[in-house]
Amino acid sequence: MTYSFTYTVMAPDQLSEVEQLLCRKAAEATRGSYAPYSNYHVGAAVLLADGSIVAGANQENASYPCGTCAERTALHYAQSAHPTLTIEAIAIAAETEAEAQASDAAPALPYPCGMCRQTLVEAERHQGTPIKVIVTTQEQAHVFPSASCLLPFAFDA
Ligand SMILES: [Zn+2]
Repeated sequence: MTYSFTYTVMAPDQLSEVEQLLCRKAAEATRGSYAPYSNYHVGAAVLLADGSIVAGANQENASYPCGTCAERTALHYAQSAHPTLTIEAIAIAAETEAEAQASDAAPALPYPCGMCRQTLVEAERHQGTPIKVIVTTQEQAHVFPSASCLLPFAFDA
């Protein structure tokens, strides 16, 4: 058996206008990050079917499991505030303090963790349509047509 999928690697300015806006909102959302333990500031922005965008950032806690990733912060906010709207896409951006200070540093792509992948997959199942995932830095964007690409054999109760 083989599992495979196709994704796209491109410069951020090759994204559609709305996707570029979504990436900018994700990058801006890093300012709302509370990350005193990892110093890894992540922002996520969710595009809804009516064109509105909801963003969130990672929120850490001294009791580590209490913390929440940017993706789930944004996704759960979108689902809570707009439960009837389909989620079209999510963009994820990140910045470490070292990267913020050293402009020549090449930032790593902020791929979602396993918990966020599971959460995105369930959102897809719930709404019945795929959620495009855009993982971005200032230099490049990796675009996945569906969150389920990133989590084959996801848990389902
Ligand atoms: Zn996560």
